Amino acid sequence: MKQEHGDVRARMLIEAEQDKIRKAIKTLQRDSAPPMVRSAEDLDNASTTTERYNIAARRACLEAELIQIEEALSRMNDGFYRICRQCGHLIEPDRLQANPFATLCIGCKREEERKLSSYRHLNR
Ligand SMILES: [Zn+2]
Repeated sequence: MKQEHGDVRARMLIEAEQDKIRKAIKTLQRDSAPPMVRSAEDLDNASTTTERYNIAARRACLEAELIQIEEALSRMNDGFYRICRQCGHLIEPDRLQANPFATLCIGCKREEERKLSSYRHLNR
């Protein structure tokens, strides 16, 4: 079936991405291991703090991506891949081509972004 063939390709893409992100997280873990503190000056080192903050932020971002990937894979195993988790309609093939981890159709994604941006606006 044509559709199944597409899923095999998507699965390969997703698994390759999952692998890449796992490796990136491992690298970040290594980089963010507590450095040797040589002096009190080091503790106050602002750039180190910023750097560590950046590493933590990047890691959180990668972990969020990994969760999305795992969700896509489990949805694939359950046969729900391509189905919008919000409205239950099929996700547009063009959209999945651009983002194999999409769990929302274009309409629901736009709606979600609209809600998120108004939420951010409220919290500003
Ligand atoms: Zn939808």
